[in-house]
Amino acid sequence: MSTALGNHILVEFMNCDPHIMNDVAAIERDMVAAAQKAGATVINSTFHHFSPFGVSGVVVIQESHLAIHTWPEYGYAAVDLFTCGEMDAWISFDHLKESFKSQSYSAIEMKRGSVNLLTRNDFDMTTMRQKAGEWRNPEFFTRNVWFTDKDEFQALSLRFTGEVFFDVQSPFQRVRIIESYKYGKMLALDDMVMTTIEDEFHYHEMIAHPALFTHGNAKNVLVIGGGDGGTVREVLRHESVEKVMMVEIDGEVITACKEHLPQIAAAFDNPKLELLVDDGIAFMKTAAPESYDIIIIDGSDPVGPAEGLFSVEFYTNCFNALKKDGILIAQGESPKFNEKAFTELNHTLQDIFGKDKAPVSLFFVPTYPTGMWSFQYGLKGESHPKMVTNESTIDAFVEEKGLRYYNADVHKGSFATPNFVKALLKT
Ligand code: SAM
Repeated sequence: MSTALGNHILVEFMNCDPHIMNDVAAIERDMVAAAQKAGATVINSTFHHFSPFGVSGVVVIQESHLAIHTWPEYGYAAVDLFTCGEMDAWISFDHLKESFKSQSYSAIEMKRGSVNLLTRNDFDMTTMRQKAGEWRNPEFFTRNVWFTDKDEFQALSLRFTGEVFFDVQSPFQRVRIIESYKYGKMLALDDMVMTTIEDEFHYHEMIAHPALFTHGNAKNVLVIGGGDGGTVREVLRHESVEKVMMVEIDGEVITACKEHLPQIAAAFDNPKLELLVDDGIAFMKTAAPESYDIIIIDGSDPVGPAEGLFSVEFYTNCFNALKKDGILIAQGESPKFNEKAFTELNHTLQDIFGKDKAPVSLFFVPTYPTGMWSFQYGLKGESHPKMVTNESTIDAFVEEKGLRYYNADVHKGSFATPNFVKALLKT
């Protein structure tokens, strides 16, 4: 008869693989497997990934719990293996040491709940036993794996199934396709949500249609970035468009989306599309002057490969490559997330295109932090997205194409700028 109710092993796993220490799906999978390998009955698992790094989580088992907190920057994991009954938690320890590629560790084992120190209360156990029986269904356990995109002060967390469909560290970024319960499959680059099946149309309809209807007769369109394919899909809905050139730096993004997000990557075989896997910044340096009607910058956040997509030199090159009545649209961050990048980009566009030639379109993307996002314009000619005159044409197109976000009112409404944003953009 055990003299203690529980057994607690406190483990310091050191010199672990930092990438594994930052991989919430891998850690959840390994922790659940560590419990099951030792014969435990898993009740549920709750795991959180913190951006930029770190994972915390717990696997609740019939025999108590396994818990973990990681510091990838130190290659370190603090692990708790708390068990009761006959379960040998050292089996879990061995599995985790191997899974985390831990080069060194220390562990303390202690008995918890010494029965000599405790007084047993007599109460009706029958109801308790029956309840426990319900939990004994090994197939049925809830997984709570959370993906969190955050900056210092705010975050967006999405619960995902823990399934990872694509996970490649490319020369530019980590490319992953995971599945969230609420928004379905999604593309994450370096742990930032890029696009999801359930709300991608918000972004892709608003990046394409306002500009194409403002221009009215665009034939030659350039897209920088946009590796998921949603932007070119929307641009190619316009029959007037004769050619779309797309320059995406990371071929892994295209591969991942073609394979796992086919509804978004639906236009990659369109004969009007010329796809180049290359750096858009370098491409713009040598782009022919006055060659495009519309240039769309569908880039990721101003870090890593996309940092240069927010520079004065880059937008000056874009200005030169636009025809006289050309329009530029850029993924513009949010007045409530990355405010500095949002404001600086608009000031750059005002300097290059002109003070009244850099309007901002605001719209909603539920899976982007704060949900409030923007596209920023550079207008080289006289046409202005606020001066919409072809509303009936727009709504007929919306009807015909079955668009789900964009329409003539949303077009106009998106350029209605709240006062706090006007204040941010004042130069
Ligand atoms: N909707 C997303 C957002 O708002 O952040 C952007 C989606 S799209 C997937 C962003 C694409 O820009 C990525 O595929 C990334 O590889 C690409 N990209 C980043 N830097 C680039 C560069 N310098 N040249 C071309 N493509 C680039």
